Amino acid sequence: MASVYIGLGGNLDCPKSHISQGLIELNHLPNTKYIICSSFYQSKPMGPQDQPDYINAVAKIITMLTPENLLLCLQQIEKNHQRIKTRHWGERTLDLDILLYEDIQLKTVRLTIPHPRMHERGFVMYPLEEIAPHLIIPSMGHIRELIPHCIYTDITKLDETPYPISA
Ligand code: AMP
Repeated sequence: MASVYIGLGGNLDCPKSHISQGLIELNHLPNTKYIICSSFYQSKPMGPQDQPDYINAVAKIITMLTPENLLLCLQQIEKNHQRIKTRHWGERTLDLDILLYEDIQLKTVRLTIPHPRMHERGFVMYPLEEIAPHLIIPSMGHIRELIPHCIYTDITKLDETPYPISA
C-alpha cells in the first residue's frame, strides 16, 4: 500500500459538504483506505478575486491504485460533484490534487508528483503540516522549512473538521 496525500478544495455550493463527501468517496475507491484529514482552512482565491473564498483541507489515504489510476479516480469524483471548468483558477465545487505519492517523483503529460506548486501554497502546506509535521517532500525539503516561503498565505484555520468517516 502506498501512502498518498490529497489536496481538497472548493468554493461553490457549500464547499465543506463537498470536501466531506469527497473523503467518503476516497474511502470507497478500490483497494484504498482513508486515514486522516486536516481541519478545514479558509483562503482567499489565488486567481480571479471576484469569487468566494476557498475551503481547503489535506487528507492522507493508503492505496494500491497506481498514480495514473488514482488520478482517473479523482477526476471521476470531481465529476460526481458537477465540477465544471469555467476559467483558469476559477470557482469550483471540488478540486482534488495528488500532492505526494510515497516519495516518488514523476513527471508525465498528465501527472506531476510531488504537485509542482504545492510548496508555494499556504492552503496546501498548512493543512499538510497539521497532519504530517515531520514530512520531507522529495526534491523540496522539510515541510517546516518550506512553509515560511509560501506565497499564498492569506489563510485561516477554522475550528472545524470534515464529517467523521465510519469504517
Ligand atoms: P486542476 O483540476 O485545475 O487542478 O488541474 C488538473 C490537471 O492537472 C489535470 O489535467 C491533470 O492531468 C493535471 N495534473 C498534473 N499533476 C497533477 C497532480 N499531481 N494532481 C492532480 N492533477 C494533476
